[in-house]
Amino acid sequence: MARSPRAARRAARIRGLPADRAALRSAVAVARLPGHPAALTESARELLLAWLDANRDPHDAVIRQLSDGTAATRIGRALLDRSPEPPGLACAAGCAFCCILPGEDGGTITAAEARALHAALPPRPPETPWHPQACPALDPDTKLCRAYDARPMICRTYVSKDVAACEAIAGGEARPGTGTLAPQLAYVTAHALARAALGTGAPTYALARVARAATEGTPLEATLKAARHPPRNLDDERRRLARGLG
Ligand code: SF4
Ligand code: SF4
Repeated sequence: MARSPRAARRAARIRGLPADRAALRSAVAVARLPGHPAALTESARELLLAWLDANRDPHDAVIRQLSDGTAATRIGRALLDRSPEPPGLACAAGCAFCCILPGEDGGTITAAEARALHAALPPRPPETPWHPQACPALDPDTKLCRAYDARPMICRTYVSKDVAACEAIAGGEARPGTGTLAPQLAYVTAHALARAALGTGAPTYALARVARAATEGTPLEATLKAARHPPRNLDDERRRLARGLG
């Protein structure tokens, strides 16, 4: 049942969240990201405030969209759509060294992205992956993403001018020539700023764990619980990207 604006304000106050749109706007306007480059923070703040001003949803829905990464993802995707593609990229359909995910984690995604990825990956019988560490969303025969339309920002922004470098990186070598486009850093910064403004929430999740659990048929809530990062992950990720390590 939809809550009245008054009930929503009361619930927000109880949870320690900004109680109305004006309080939320003020919280975003003064939120800080210690150690983050000021220009990146201010640019993300401007985009977050513009998103807030254009949003006509009820207050508790707006809080939810900030916390689950809907806001950051929309900001990141809009920037990506507007960015010209860098010249000389080697990326092509079926080229999938970037979908070989070292370790258990596979990359940082928001709750909104985790839900979309889970919904796009119905349970499948066990299969032999193209590579032992390939993302579980990757089709081993075509080497195409089975969740292409729902793929998270990290997959949309990772590019390379050198397939050989991608193959070497997938094999554990450190090589230049690959990385994420600037909208990835803007999206991560916006999500971190949203969390700073809310004072809580805005969790992140491990891409590979979400994809694996979805294909194994694990229900959404259990998937999110198992794939959830500790809070420090988001700050580690924004710092890593800001150092140019994306
Ligand atoms: S990032 Fe590398 S592996 Fe991925 S599509 Fe581009 S060239 Fe291929
Ligand atoms: S979600 Fe799709 S694009 Fe992203 S790593 Fe997995 S297979 Fe590759």
